Amino acid sequence: MSIKKQINLIKAQIGKNVCLVAVSKTKTELKIKEAYDSGQRVFGENKVQELVSKQNNLPKDINWHMIGHLQRNKVKYIAPFIKLIHGVDNMKLLREIDKQARKNERVIDCLIQIKISNEESKFGIDYKEANEWLKTDLLLNFKNIRITGFMGMASNTNNELILSKEFSTLNNFFNMHENTNLKTLSMGMSNDYLLAIKNGSNMIRVGSNIFGARK
Ligand SMILES: *Cc1c(COP(=O)(O)O)cnc(C)c1O
Repeated sequence: MSIKKQINLIKAQIGKNVCLVAVSKTKTELKIKEAYDSGQRVFGENKVQELVSKQNNLPKDINWHMIGHLQRNKVKYIAPFIKLIHGVDNMKLLREIDKQARKNERVIDCLIQIKISNEESKFGIDYKEANEWLKTDLLLNFKNIRITGFMGMASNTNNELILSKEFSTLNNFFNMHENTNLKTLSMGMSNDYLLAIKNGSNMIRVGSNIFGARK
């Protein structure tokens, strides 16, 4: 199916209240342009170098999201334009984002990544630590960062019971803290986005279902 058809299909499934992040990592600018021409404006990348070069070459009204693990020394390259950073999971990184945002006279939106899966490879902080971040004034020190919600990556499994449990636990946590600033819950990828939405997600990150499998 064409990229345009896939996007329209997913948009029809998810409705207007869920934001679709088209994950374009490893995909060519031509393919991204195809998605853009069918109306898609939000794209997610996970490598800084690739993200910067695509941002440079593609239309300027694209909202770029950083969805991967972000290294502190690379924040400066994306700070001028990045719309949302999904994977924030340590204070040193927050401090650097705040510093680079201030240099660019911007306020950068960030999601706290919570580790919702037991898999070793997944990043994120646990609920206890996230609670501490939110209860204290810690985050208020960062004047050039706005924490706008949470991001979670579920286990790499087809077991819907496990997935539902991971999603719904994060959703409960989100519901406890939701306010005018904390309004985004980013969870769900190609294989599990419908289940994620059932469990409260309002931002999904979909790559292979739009652009085809990655090598
Ligand atoms: C690659 C990636 C996705 C998209 O994965 P698909 O299975 O291709 O939809 C979503 N979120 C993150 C953090 C990713 O790295």
